[in-house]
Amino acid sequence: MPTDGTPSPLHNPPGGPATGGLPALVAAHAARTPHALAVADADTTLTYAQLVSSARALAGHLRGHGVRQGDSVALLMPRCARTVVAQLALWWAGAVCVPLDPAHPRSRSEALTADAGATLTVGDGKLLESAALPGTTLALPDDAMVENGDGCPTAEPAPDAAAFIMFTSGSTGRPKGVAVPHHAIAELVTDPAYLTIGPRDRLLFHSPMTFDASTFEIWAALANGAAVVVCTTERPSLEDLARDVEHHGVTVAFFTTALFHQLAARRSRIFSVLRTVVVGGEALSAQHAREVLRAFPWLELVNGYGPTEATTFTTAHRVTDTDCEGQVPIGRPVAGATVHLLDDAGRPVPDGERGELWIGGCRLAHGYTGRSRPTGEAFVHHPELGRLYRTGDLVSLRPDGSLDFHGRTDDQFKIRGFRIEPAEIEHALREQPEVADAAVTVHRRTHDDARLTAFVVAAPGPVPRPATLRERLAAVLPAALLPDHVQIVDALPLTPSGKVDRRALTDLVTEDGPGTPAEPLGPLQQAVAEIWSRSLGCEVARPEDDFIALGGHSLLALAVADDLREDLGVELTLADFFAVPTVAGHAALVERALLAAHSDLRPGAPEDTDVH
Ligand code: ADP
Repeated sequence: MPTDGTPSPLHNPPGGPATGGLPALVAAHAARTPHALAVADADTTLTYAQLVSSARALAGHLRGHGVRQGDSVALLMPRCARTVVAQLALWWAGAVCVPLDPAHPRSRSEALTADAGATLTVGDGKLLESAALPGTTLALPDDAMVENGDGCPTAEPAPDAAAFIMFTSGSTGRPKGVAVPHHAIAELVTDPAYLTIGPRDRLLFHSPMTFDASTFEIWAALANGAAVVVCTTERPSLEDLARDVEHHGVTVAFFTTALFHQLAARRSRIFSVLRTVVVGGEALSAQHAREVLRAFPWLELVNGYGPTEATTFTTAHRVTDTDCEGQVPIGRPVAGATVHLLDDAGRPVPDGERGELWIGGCRLAHGYTGRSRPTGEAFVHHPELGRLYRTGDLVSLRPDGSLDFHGRTDDQFKIRGFRIEPAEIEHALREQPEVADAAVTVHRRTHDDARLTAFVVAAPGPVPRPATLRERLAAVLPAALLPDHVQIVDALPLTPSGKVDRRALTDLVTEDGPGTPAEPLGPLQQAVAEIWSRSLGCEVARPEDDFIALGGHSLLALAVADDLREDLGVELTLADFFAVPTVAGHAALVERALLAAHSDLRPGAPEDTDVH
């Protein structure tokens, strides 16, 4: 294992120019190409000069409201061009940005803000008002987009200063705030060797701001003189994504592996516009990758691997058709990362054998904010290799120097792109008075159809209703952590060593069957039911059948929404989709949309109305 700085397949030393803070990189492009497009959303475009000028003006405003060097400031905004201005402004005001998700329950945002030690929450006035978070809040002025802040004094953040605090699921029941420094992001995105990117490119920003993929989406564009295209739809459907990509001529996009699989299975036309697709988050299916590469041979497909703690991507692999004959590798370290395959005692495993991946190099996070114990357990000092992050991922080294991923050493898993510690959900369940104990498992019916089941042992007294428990969890956990199914059991099975036997639990799963039809389905309901059952993989027979109760989730909703569009010619937003997620509810929405589109069919409707 190289430790002396010698370049090797397992050691990618820091590259050249990217050693400063992110704002300085953007300012340098603004000086060089002030009129180049920097950010665009549905109704705003900003050149580099305008982006820098508005961010400086907003930084002045923030300082005027007391933001000081080193403050952690939470940011609550919808995804739009202003979000990018606000991030830059926070840094120029000297602050660390703590992104919040408007879709998260209030108690979650409150806990994250407190854990990050945020002194202030800034953002969109309406969101701040409805979130009603405790502590000081500041609505950002709308006119900050047009103000000229060129003369405003701004502080350049030190390269080692934290840029973001991003939260990941925590095994003790509390999410962990990962503090990521500026130089680590700059190093990852500036002139990267693992993908093609230049000033003519346009990158799609569609990930939630709380997800470290958004770091890549925004700053890989702005560090390279390219443009960020912001998808402003909060929960974009596959069609929304394809439309944004087509409309703005997006060339580079990141998709979570699960979303990529959905797009691939449907041969989305998105691949005919994009030049580069980066996927990551879970093991990439060779079959989906092969299908996409064969149908769109010009596509640059990159499999990116890495935990948030090592700044988004640690290794990357440009996927070829030949790779898809077996397991697709996760590749080699990207600039600034070193990788080491070690056993439990920190000794190198023989080449070709599986070992835990420990990551070193200059792109490691500072640690978990305010959490010295978990930081000390995950970020360790190796006597020979220096500071390393223990990933808990099992990998092996190929003779050509690239790595293969073989799963986890612990219970952590990914579901629909979200990193989940079952302990976090179990903790939230045990907090309920009617719950004595709980264990959460994941089971996969197909590669991309993973479902969370919570097994609950009731406390003495009335047995809790699964639906009630789910509702209570929804008030404290983000949607991705909500169990798809809650099952009451007498006791949790244990292994001989006294641990919860998760494998035995999986055998206990008894999901609700489709039931018997209470009343016959109408023709539109029948069409909806057929589309649902294609994605859900079970019979759907009753008007009141509920998408979520049948195991539907956000990713399957994307597929169903796309089928409704293709088969019935009707587009449902995901917000509408989940507002009434029953067969009858969807059929009613479809009927309304069809009537609106063909208003001449509605009795009494004006004949010549142009509905488009
Ligand atoms: P990210 O946002 O990059 O997915 P997270 O911190 O949420 O980062 O999750 C990191 C974990 O996700 C890794 O430790 C690994 O278990 C898994 N992971 C990430 N990318 C890949 C990949 N390309 N292939 C397999 N597993 C992956």
